[in-house]
Amino acid sequence: MKILFRLLLCSLLALSAGCATEQVAPAGAPAAAASTPPPLLLISIDAYRADYIKRGLSPTLQMLANHGVRAQSMQPSFPSLTFPNHYTIVTGLRPDHHGIVNNRMYDPRLGKFALGDRAAVSDGRWWSEGTPIWETADQHGIRTATMFWPGSSADIHGQHPDYWIPYNGKLTAIQRADQVLAWLDLPAAERPGFLTLYFDRVDHAGHGFGPDSAQVDAALRSTDAALAHLVQGLRDRGMFKHMNIIVISDHGMASVPRDHNIYIDNFLHADQVQTVGLGVLAGFNPKPGHDFAKIEAAMEKPHRHMQCWDKSRVPARFDYGKNPRVPQLLCLADVGWRITSHAHMAIHSKVSIGNHGYDNADPRMQALFVAHGPAFRRGIVVKPFPNVDVYPLMMHLLDLPPMASDGSYDAVKDMLNPASR
Ligand code: AMP
Ligand code: ZN
Ligand code: ZN
Repeated sequence: MKILFRLLLCSLLALSAGCATEQVAPAGAPAAAASTPPPLLLISIDAYRADYIKRGLSPTLQMLANHGVRAQSMQPSFPSLTFPNHYTIVTGLRPDHHGIVNNRMYDPRLGKFALGDRAAVSDGRWWSEGTPIWETADQHGIRTATMFWPGSSADIHGQHPDYWIPYNGKLTAIQRADQVLAWLDLPAAERPGFLTLYFDRVDHAGHGFGPDSAQVDAALRSTDAALAHLVQGLRDRGMFKHMNIIVISDHGMASVPRDHNIYIDNFLHADQVQTVGLGVLAGFNPKPGHDFAKIEAAMEKPHRHMQCWDKSRVPARFDYGKNPRVPQLLCLADVGWRITSHAHMAIHSKVSIGNHGYDNADPRMQALFVAHGPAFRRGIVVKPFPNVDVYPLMMHLLDLPPMASDGSYDAVKDMLNPASR
């Protein structure tokens, strides 16, 4: 807590003026202890679809790729939603295994979970089935700092990152980048060796206006401008060449026409089930007094633009359905469709015309992976790989013992310089 308060003070100063007054040696520069791995910065651009980079609106990202590594795409885990995939990236576990199985959840012991529910999002019990990289790093003496990351404001196993900030969507991309620079300006003994940075404007524009909109293009430009600001700040400090930087996204974005509605109440009466959530992946639990087996039998029959399964019958490739938090009955919309109800539409007339959460194998759901730094080969493009592999890669870069995970270091080690493998 002490550190949080100092950090908040520091960050407020940093956002207006400049937090560090002390001149420090570049982090990870040769003068630093030979055994200390270079700092690792993990950047997420929420909903940056794999093919967005080809629009030519992300010159800084392209520069990092040109001098580093780019994956043709990275496959998200199922469901292709923000919280499940961000937690996958920092734990190496599929959502079914780390417990953040959706952005919206119900747990018989903990109650309801939703992105906007600060108490739930900060409650470590939701997150404790996984061990995030910052927890292990801290245990091994590496300081950690999160400029937002799902899970970072929770007391997971009683622990936070050393430096973290409660989520505040109003902080601009430049302010976020400046906070990372301010942390890197801390004296060596306090300076983080693992940091995250999170941008969400591309996601918001994608939901509001669709992936092919001018608004997404503007969000790509402004996010890249923040990346350029960050890179310049790192260069000014002599740190750029000495840091490993990984830029990822959690999933892509598909366009969803306004009238692509599947009205669940045409098939299922709201009072017969407990609805956990609608949207792309809808979930329902039994309600006492109603024959759930009969309801499921009807729902599992073919439907237009939607497939439903009892959680025990979800296709194996999704690796989803064993976790007690996964609702008993799941309905997944075809890409480009939304599951809603007449009652829901009566209250929420504004719909997202871009969305994600769909089948994680669909091309429109594929994510970004770019990496740059002393450990990475230069100018190579690698084949698609699943996002569970990012965790063992990062643990290797930080010379930390990985927890058991669903990822594979061997699958991604070829992107590293031979000396860094
Ligand atoms: P979604 O598009 O529904 O998967 O949710 C993505 C949204 O979650 C982002 O656009 C942010 O507004 C919000 N969000 C991202 N990170 C956090 C966080 N750490 N805490 C709370 N909300 C967040
Ligand atoms: Zn997202
Ligand atoms: Zn989103």
